[in-house]
Order: sequence, then structure tokens, then C-alpha cells
Amino acid sequence: MNAQTPSSSSSPLAPSSLLSSSSVQSLPVISVSLLSTNPTAVPLSQIAATEASSPTPTLASTPPAGATPSSIPGAPGLPSLSSIIPANYPKLDVVPPTDSAEVQQWIAEVQSTGIQIPNISPTQPGGCPNNTQAAADTSRCWWTCGGCVRTTDIADCPTQNTWGLTYDDGPAYYTPNLLNYLDQNNLKSTFFVIGSRAVSFPAILQSEYLGAHQLSVHTWSHSAPLTTLTNEQVIAELGWTKKVMKAVTGVTPNTMRPPFGDIDDRVRAISLAMGLTPIMWTRISATQTFDTGDYNIHGGSITSEGVMQNWYWIMGNASKLSTGFIVLEHDLFQQSVEIATGYILPDALARTPKLTLQPVITCLGMTLADAYIETNDNKTNPPPATLGPTGTSSGRPSSTGTNGNTGQSGALSLHSLPDAVVLGLLSLIAGSAVLL
Ligand SMILES: [Zn+2]
Repeated sequence: MNAQTPSSSSSPLAPSSLLSSSSVQSLPVISVSLLSTNPTAVPLSQIAATEASSPTPTLASTPPAGATPSSIPGAPGLPSLSSIIPANYPKLDVVPPTDSAEVQQWIAEVQSTGIQIPNISPTQPGGCPNNTQAAADTSRCWWTCGGCVRTTDIADCPTQNTWGLTYDDGPAYYTPNLLNYLDQNNLKSTFFVIGSRAVSFPAILQSEYLGAHQLSVHTWSHSAPLTTLTNEQVIAELGWTKKVMKAVTGVTPNTMRPPFGDIDDRVRAISLAMGLTPIMWTRISATQTFDTGDYNIHGGSITSEGVMQNWYWIMGNASKLSTGFIVLEHDLFQQSVEIATGYILPDALARTPKLTLQPVITCLGMTLADAYIETNDNKTNPPPATLGPTGTSSGRPSSTGTNGNTGQSGALSLHSLPDAVVLGLLSLIAGSAVLL
């Protein structure tokens, strides 16, 4: 059975071994003042790595085969779940092999686009500290080390006080709880989907799709940063995710988010050649991004109070932007869903001035139909792949004027930590897979 349990020990995505407990103790003491909470929320102090697993929720209803989303005119009918056969797909959480007929075909298709894939060598595992030369090479436009973006990247929502709501790394065990909360509050989100987990939880993916949430590609395995992989492996990671998402929903996303935000011009070119526009999250300086850190509660390297402090930091900075924003959150863990539904979302909904929470495609002024290859009208679609990343400017327009490309490390939101802790974190991160 191609499925996971929600326990930390069984999931290769769990960052439980990332940081020592001493790092937790180094975090500053904070106080949290909430505008609003969910009356049924788990007490904040109980949302922790040591928390017992709640019973895994079930979906309120399972959509019938053939159903069509009312939010996407002309969309094909929903495939039958019985058509999703795990044996027909690569292994869970592992980079797919590149010698299969499918991957070879996708490689040929990428070549046939005529899009030039820059001859940039893959980075070494370990991020910026292990890749000082690549990190200093601004021509790569490597987001991880300094925050460089191209005009083909979606990095923000354009309108002030608009939050492009996103959740990464599902579908997963507690995703239905998040979907229920979103439904109750008439909220729609963008879900960045791990392909191999869509095989494990296809009914949840169908529910997201029919519920008028946006679906986007987040790689097959999420097991390695994309810049560390070969061109062929990147194609396999993206191609299999596109394939399973179409098999489950009937449509193929035309956007992607690189795991860990790890993208450079080589990965950009491959993504665009495969019809996928990158979606990042907001970064306001070389080392500061709108990352709640929610994924690290499960592993014990941040407390739920620490995540709320990150949230308040994000809100404080979002209010200074001339644009809207995108925040990194996850539906992967029980803890990340609990803090989203119990605290972050209720607080966001109570804010003045009022925040508008939307899927990224909506905040860009487009429709859900524009988010899929089969249903977009080719006029309001995200930037066409034929533009490619070359010849475009680097660095997103920033109201703060502090966006990166400085070659510094900064994939994480480290704004709340002293410099010594930041350096310690980065050195620890260098040897570990961090879940973003
Ligand atoms: Zn992720």
C-alpha cells in the first residue's frame, strides 16, 4: 500500500532530526496576543511535537466519478479513483528513475520546445554554505542563496492586503480538517501537491479540486532540492506529478513551487519548458521570507508560540508592503493544520484593514480555469514558456528595496533569531533536508 502514517518516525519528510533541543531553548520568549481564535482550537501550548496523534479525519463526502467543478467551465469529468493504480507510478517519496518510457518522452518534449536549458551544473546538497561559488554566481539567479527571482516567477500577489493563501506537501492525513475549516469560512487556497502522495490520497486531491481550490505541482518526491538534481531528474519529478494530478483530477496544473524554494535558471527553464510557472513565497530581504515555520513544530525545532511570533512578524511586514503577499504554510502535519485552523486563519480574518485571502491564481486576477493546461484560454494564462527566463530582469520589484541577489543564505525565515543562532541553524540545515 502506497501510504504513509502520520508519525514522525515513518516519514522521510519529517524534519525531526534537523535541530537539537538546545536550539529550541535558544528561541526568545514571546507573548502572543490574538485578535481571534477558533473556539474549537487545540490549546496553543498543546500543539507540539510531543502531541498525541488525533484520529485521522475522513472526508465529508467522496466526489462521484464524472463530477465536474462548477468553478471551471468546460472542465473534463472527474476520473474514477479505481483508475489510480499505485503500481503504475514510481515509489513514494523517492526521485523517480529517468530511464522509463514516460520520462524519456518528457525529456524529448522538453528538447522539442527549443527552450535553452542553461548549462549550469547541479548544486551540492547542503545549500549555500556547501556551494559558495554557486551562491556567489549571480548569473544563476539562485533563489535559495540571496532570493534572486526572474520576471517569470510569481513571488507576490499584486494588490495590497491580499494574501495568496498556500499550503504545501499534501495531500496528507489532516488535510480534510483544513478543508473543512476553509469551507466553513468560504476560503479558497492554493495547494502545492506532492505527486507520490496524491497516489496515496487521491480522494483528498479530488476534494480540493472540486472545492474550487487551486492545485499546483510540488514535485513527485520532495526528497531533494531541485537544483541538486540532473536535468533528467528534474523532468521526472515534475512530469510524474503532472501525470498523476491529471489522472486524479482530469486536469494538469500550469504552475509549480520548488521544494525548499530551491530554484535557479536551470530549474526555471526546465519548469517553463514543461508548461509550469514557478510560484514562490514573499521575501523582503536576502534572509527574510514570509515563512511561518509551521512544519518545524512537528519535528520539535520550533514551538507553536514561535510560529505565532513568526506570524505576527509577517503581518507587521505585510502591512508595510505596497503589494499583497504569499506565506509559506503546510497541510502535511497535524500540528501545522491545527495552528492554521485554530490561530493563524482566525487571526487573519479578524484583521483591520481587512485581508483578502485568495488562491494565488485569483490574486493575480485570473480564474481557476487559467490554472490548468486543459482549461486556460491562453490569453490570461501565466507567462508562456516560450518567453523563458533568459533576458529577463532579476530581483522582484520590492517596496522595501531589500530584495536579494546578494549571495547570502536565506531559504528560511530567520528573522526572529539572533545572528549566532541563525548561523548555527544554517550550518545544521546544511546537512539536513529541511521541509519547506
Ligand atoms: Zn514543500
